[in-house]
Amino acid sequence: MKCPYCQKEMEKGFIQCRDGVTWTPKKQLVAAFSSLGRGSVSLENGAGNDRTVYAHHCEDCKKVIVDYSETK
Ligand SMILES: [Zn+2]
Repeated sequence: MKCPYCQKEMEKGFIQCRDGVTWTPKKQLVAAFSSLGRGSVSLENGAGNDRTVYAHHCEDCKKVIVDYSETK
């Protein structure tokens, strides 16, 4: 994957979180992660389960991109 900011090739890796990797519109209390609120988006993208997702990193731009369009 090319970095959309600088167009260099990004480094593929992972983001992992014990309670699942999600985007939420509002900050969640850590203790409440198991009951995620309305509008939460699981970033699961085929890396094995919802606690591990593929992510691409650009060190130059200090960006990490998670594409969750791949597989569910
Ligand atoms: Zn970049």
